[in-house]
Amino acid sequence: MALIVQKFGGSSVKDRDRIFNVARIVANTHNAGNDVVVVVSAQGDTTDDLIAKAAEITHNPSAREMDMLLAAGEEISISLLAMALNELGCHATSLTGWQAGFRTDRAYTKARITRLETERISSELERNRVVVVAGFQGLNKLDDITTLGRGGSDTSAVAIAAALHADRCQIFTDVEGVYTADPRKVRNTRKLDEITFDEMLELASLGAQVLNNRSVELAKKYNVELEVLSSLNPIPGTVVKEVTKMEGMLIKGVAKDTDVAVITILNVPDEPGTSFKIFGLLAQKNINVDIILQSTGRDGKKDISFTCSEGEADLAMRVLKESAHFNDVSVDTTCAKVSIVGAGMQSHSGVASKMFEALSNNNINIKMISTSEIKISCIIDRNDADDHSHDADDVYDGMPSSSPRINCLTSSSGSSTTG
Ligand code: ASP
Ligand code: MG
Repeated sequence: MALIVQKFGGSSVKDRDRIFNVARIVANTHNAGNDVVVVVSAQGDTTDDLIAKAAEITHNPSAREMDMLLAAGEEISISLLAMALNELGCHATSLTGWQAGFRTDRAYTKARITRLETERISSELERNRVVVVAGFQGLNKLDDITTLGRGGSDTSAVAIAAALHADRCQIFTDVEGVYTADPRKVRNTRKLDEITFDEMLELASLGAQVLNNRSVELAKKYNVELEVLSSLNPIPGTVVKEVTKMEGMLIKGVAKDTDVAVITILNVPDEPGTSFKIFGLLAQKNINVDIILQSTGRDGKKDISFTCSEGEADLAMRVLKESAHFNDVSVDTTCAKVSIVGAGMQSHSGVASKMFEALSNNNINIKMISTSEIKISCIIDRNDADDHSHDADDVYDGMPSSSPRINCLTSSSGSSTTG
């Protein structure tokens, strides 16, 4: 007998039929003799709808009240799914995040899990019940409900799997696994059998958005093997784990992120401490900086550019302008980031040049480049990134034939596929 955690995203429980579909998957798993903990998200677009409702009342809702509101979405799902399971003769108990023992820090709307007290879940399992837990929510030290940030149910599921030492953590979604690019936007993408945590992290944070990246970080930290699979099509999905066998496969995926702003500061002093001043200010405001580019100094001056999310660009601009040190600051919000990811590329030469060649063949200008051991990212014009007519087949020419071939250089960061 195994202990299996199964997480279902919002699209998998969006209506009555989907709820019964999920209930059947869960009941089958339970009937096969396994202990099952199920984590669910809010139905369909419920979370977005709740956010819209709040906006009808105020443009500046308190974060505490937002969490109180958003947590309601998952509570609808758990009760309905538990009812459906009971209808199928499979005894189930629904638990809110706080009943399930999720303790978090105080950061409303983006809380982090500090502790998971598993007594209640364990005692329900001992009674041979399926436990249906509300994802995305917990309780802070003030006994206030908190939520874990958009897409947070994945993280709830991984946390439970880690805390209970589950044998398997299955993340059910509306795609059949992790693809080399977003299958809903790009034709002829390939499903991966396996991907490493590091590759998945790069793809998640690059906008591939199959799994929430905090959940992957957590899975890596506690070595929880994840299986991403479809709730509608019962075929093997993609396993996310520490090491994969597919050594020959050079590039695991291509991702596009349009939530990118490039901020440029001209004529800063070319002297020790300048970068510290700039990025210290941004860090104080918790602004996440991605790519940083610095020009060579001339006449004691240099230029520094960096990227952050578009949502944080205004704040970053304000912080820099208010500091009095940096007057010549500008922001460009017409950019996008395209990246190729693969653990195999660190031991192969020529991958970067192939990517640049593909961009060049499509007459796409590169504004910034960043590389790591397992990825190469280019900042390009957003229009170019959105143009799906580009053909990236030439990226793969000259690479090992085991590299996946895809038709388009960009995947899209549309809405969350986990939702
Ligand atoms: N319902 C929440 C959201 O839409 C959490 C989740 O789906 O994981 O972001
Ligand atoms: Mg959702």
